[in-house]
Amino acid sequence: MTDEPYFYHPLENIEDIDDFEAAVERKNFTYSVSPERPYTYWTLELYDQNNGVRGGGGLGILAADTRRVAEQMGIPLALITPFYPYEPRQVLQGSQVVDEHLPVDYHKFGFKLIDTVNIKCCGYLCQLEVIEKRFKNTRIICVTEPNFGELYSGMSGSDHRLYQEISLGFGGYAALKLLGLKPAIMQLNEVATFFAALARLDELASNGMDFYEAMVYTRKHTLYTNHTLVQAAEAEFSEEQFARFVYPNIKSPAVLKWLKDKFVNGKLKLSSVTIEIAELRSGVSKLHARVANYHDIAGNKVKFRAITNGIDMEKWVMPEILDFYKSSGILEKNTMPSVDYIEKLNLLSASKIRNFKRAGRKILNKTLETRPDQNGKILEFSDNDFIFDFKRRFVDYKRPELPFKDPSRLRSILEQRGAHYILTGRIHTGDHIMSEKLRSLLSTVAADSYLSTHVHYIADYDEKLAYGLSVGSNVAINVPIVGLEACGTSWMKDVANLNLLISTHDGGVADASSESYLSVRGATEEAELDELYRRMEEAILSSYNDFDLEFLLKKQLAAYLPTISGARMLKDYLDYLFAS
Ligand SMILES: *Cc1c(COP(=O)(O)O)cnc(C)c1O
Repeated sequence: MTDEPYFYHPLENIEDIDDFEAAVERKNFTYSVSPERPYTYWTLELYDQNNGVRGGGGLGILAADTRRVAEQMGIPLALITPFYPYEPRQVLQGSQVVDEHLPVDYHKFGFKLIDTVNIKCCGYLCQLEVIEKRFKNTRIICVTEPNFGELYSGMSGSDHRLYQEISLGFGGYAALKLLGLKPAIMQLNEVATFFAALARLDELASNGMDFYEAMVYTRKHTLYTNHTLVQAAEAEFSEEQFARFVYPNIKSPAVLKWLKDKFVNGKLKLSSVTIEIAELRSGVSKLHARVANYHDIAGNKVKFRAITNGIDMEKWVMPEILDFYKSSGILEKNTMPSVDYIEKLNLLSASKIRNFKRAGRKILNKTLETRPDQNGKILEFSDNDFIFDFKRRFVDYKRPELPFKDPSRLRSILEQRGAHYILTGRIHTGDHIMSEKLRSLLSTVAADSYLSTHVHYIADYDEKLAYGLSVGSNVAINVPIVGLEACGTSWMKDVANLNLLISTHDGGVADASSESYLSVRGATEEAELDELYRRMEEAILSSYNDFDLEFLLKKQLAAYLPTISGARMLKDYLDYLFAS
C-alpha cells in the first residue's frame, strides 16, 4: 500500500443540483470523498464508550470500529447517530438481571454544541441539539434532546422508535447542512436509518430536480447494509404513524406520493423502501449475503454484495501482539495483512504465545477487579489457569445455555484441567425468555459444588470485558444456531488475540473452511453438544502441547486475518462504492 490517503476518483465535484444534469449527460456519476464531501455513515446504534455512547451490541461496535479505521486510513468520514442521554447498565440481583439507567452528559465526552435543528412531529416543532466531536479527518455528529430516551427504548414499531429514527434521518441530514457538509456516500447501517436517504431525496426533489432524477441520484449514492436475515421478522409502521411523524417533514409532493404508494394494507416495512432508495446493498458475511431473504416490491429476491465485517485491530488487539504482527510483517500499514502474511506467521512460536497470554491475563485480572461473579466473588486468575469464555449478547439463537445441557459432562471436562468458564452477556430489557434461561443456568451451576466455583457469570457485558476476555482467556465459545448469525465480530477479537475458537460454522466464521478452527457440527443439537464437549477437551489437551497450540492458532490466523482486518473491510466498501 502507498502512503496516499484513500481519496477515490477524487475529484469531480458534482454539486448536487447544478452538476447533476452534466453528470447525467456524461452518463456517469462520479464520486469524490473529501472533507467537505465525506463518506457518511448513518446508524441508530454506536458503541463507543470512550465517547460516551454505549450501543446494544455488534451493530454499534461495528459503527465505532468503522469510524476509527477510516480515521487511521485518512478517509474523511462523518458518522451520524443519536446521542442517548441515558445509558442502561445491568446488575445481578440474586439470579435476576436488573436494568439501571444512568444519565450521560455529552460535554464530559468532548462533544461541542453546534446549534439546533428542527423536525416536525405530531403537529409540533421538535428542537434537536446538534453536537459534534472531531477526530482528524473523521467526526461523530449527533442529534439529541433531553427526552430522547435510551437506545431501543420502546418496542420496534413503536412511536418512540419512529421518533428516534426520524430525528436521526431528518435531523441528522439538517445537521450535515448546518455543518456545510454534503454526503459523497450515505451508508445506511440497517433500515432504521432509511429516513436520512429520504431526507436527501426530498431535498433534491424540492429544490428543482425532477423526482426521477432525484431518485436516481440518491440511489446511486446510497448503500444499504443489511444485518438481519429475515425480512418477515421486521417490525412494521402504520400509515397513521407516518402521517404524524414522517409526512410533515417532507416538502416535495412527488416524494410524498412515492412514499404513500408504498403502504400495503396501511402498513410498511422500512426494508421495502430502503431497498428502493439504495442501489448499493451489502450483507455482512459471505454466508449472510447469500442467504438473507429479502424481496423488493416487485417480488424479486434482493442481491446483497458480501462485505464481511472486520474489527479495528488497533483497538481490539493487545498492543504487544499488534506490535508483533507489525514488526514481523504480518500486518502492514493500516493493519492490512501483507501478501505473504501466512509465511510470516511462522515467526509465531508457542513461547511467544504463552508470553502474550501472560500479559493478557494481567489485563483480564485488572478488568475483573471491579466485576464480581454471581457469588459476589472477585476473580483473579494465575498464568496457569485455563479459561473458556462465552461473551455475547444473551439472545436465544446464540445459545448461551448449550454447554450446560449436560452439567456432569461439563464438570468432568473442567475438572481435567481445573479449568474455569466465564460467561457474560447482556439480556435485552424485557426479554423474559432469556432472563429465565439465565436464572435456570445459574441454578444448574449453583447446584454443583464444582461448577459453582468454576463457572462465573459476570453481569453487564461491555467493551472492556470483551477486550479483557479476548486477551486474557484461552478459548472462546461461539455456538449460534447455524444460519442465524449474520457475522459476529467477537470471535474476530479472540482469533486476533490468540485464543482458540470453538464455533459453529456460521456468520463470518463460515467465510473460511470449517477446518480452520475447532468447529462444532452436528445434525441435531445433541450431536452438536457432543462435538462441543469434545472440542473443549481438545482445546485443553493443546494447552499442554506446544506444537498443537502453535499449529491451531496459526491455522486460525492464516484463515481469518484478512477477514478480521477492519482496513480490509473499509477497502472492500470503497471498492464496491467506487467501482467504475
Ligand atoms: C465485539 C462486541 C460485540 C459483538 O458481538 P457478536 O456477538 O460477535 O456480534 C457485542 N458487544 C460488545 C460489548 C462487544 O465488544
